[in-house]
Amino acid sequence: MSWQGVCGADEVALQFARASARGRLGGSFLFVGPQGVGKRVFAFMLAKTLLCQRLFHKEGDRMVCDAGLDPSASREELLERFRPCGECDSCKEFAFDVMAPELVLPQHPDFHYVCKPADKSALPLELLVGAKEERMQSGLCYALNQTSFLGGRRVAVIDDADYFNVEGANALLKTLEEPPKNTVIILIGTSATKQLPTIRSRCQMFRFQPLPDSAVADILLTQGKVGSPEEAEAVARHSGGSTTEAYRALNSDLSVFQHTLLTGLSAKHLAAVQLAGQVCEYVDKESKDAPVRRKRLQNVLKSAVAYFRALYCELDAKGSRGVIEPSAAALAPFVRRAIQNAQPTVEYALDSLERTLDALDQVDRNANLPYIVEAWLYDLAALHRGLV
Ligand SMILES: [Zn+2]
Repeated sequence: MSWQGVCGADEVALQFARASARGRLGGSFLFVGPQGVGKRVFAFMLAKTLLCQRLFHKEGDRMVCDAGLDPSASREELLERFRPCGECDSCKEFAFDVMAPELVLPQHPDFHYVCKPADKSALPLELLVGAKEERMQSGLCYALNQTSFLGGRRVAVIDDADYFNVEGANALLKTLEEPPKNTVIILIGTSATKQLPTIRSRCQMFRFQPLPDSAVADILLTQGKVGSPEEAEAVARHSGGSTTEAYRALNSDLSVFQHTLLTGLSAKHLAAVQLAGQVCEYVDKESKDAPVRRKRLQNVLKSAVAYFRALYCELDAKGSRGVIEPSAAALAPFVRRAIQNAQPTVEYALDSLERTLDALDQVDRNANLPYIVEAWLYDLAALHRGLV
């Protein structure tokens, strides 16, 4: 049983629970550890906990933890009691599902989140202290100096802390050194060495470790990324304890096979028997379970559908160059290869597309998978022979 459903973070949660119970919670924290081990999910859950109005109340100008939390209580009791009630106004505002497949940012007026935009090489200064023309009148530091909306704490999470440049770090130093009252700031980075010394020295650091394989497998299953416990275990075994790596493996496994498939489909002669063998091998690779195998075959057929669509678009351009959608750019080399090798016609592309959509239908209807694959590729090969 892990704290609030966040794997591998019990020790860190315990330290926050004890510090809260003693009334000695600091203000600036740095979480470091490999990608995909739950730092961000933990930070969000911790934020929800620290913002909970039943767990903490204001006395004078400081936040006091619910009297039921005794710092000397047992580990189990502390972990059990240190949690958001789920019912107060703050908890209701902070809608967040630990196990959701895609992380959705919690919306809460006293919760702030900053990260590096994908097209930037560093954390932009304006996110921290406002744009040049309104320096210190917007941005994170400004927001944290305002009165809190719900009258309690404020929590800020600064993601991608590996990407502070000196200017950004300097802008934040004072806030980290002495956070505004009742404010908790959590920085998230991948390793201690990637943090600027000026930042590191002002934060209390917590290290997150790779997850056990079983935890990665559980997460993949709960999030519906895989079709069975066997597939989850197989993927988790090579993930190095990181969900990010596991997701990458799930995607790259298909893209490697896509290359084999499209090479086969765009060849001069479509070798149906050989390609059917390769498809079945891919489908059966992770597990003998029917739902897993079905899902894998569907992915194969969807790749083929996209390929025949792109081929059709290219051929149907009636003399002018066809436009391939950017999303189909990866297919372009195979489309060109097919045109060079076999001079396909518009009819061929359409018939093949239709035959592939039929096969997809059959998978949905739960038919025998190897039979679907063989019949599909034999028919494609027959259409292909009609060309040469
Ligand atoms: Zn609450």
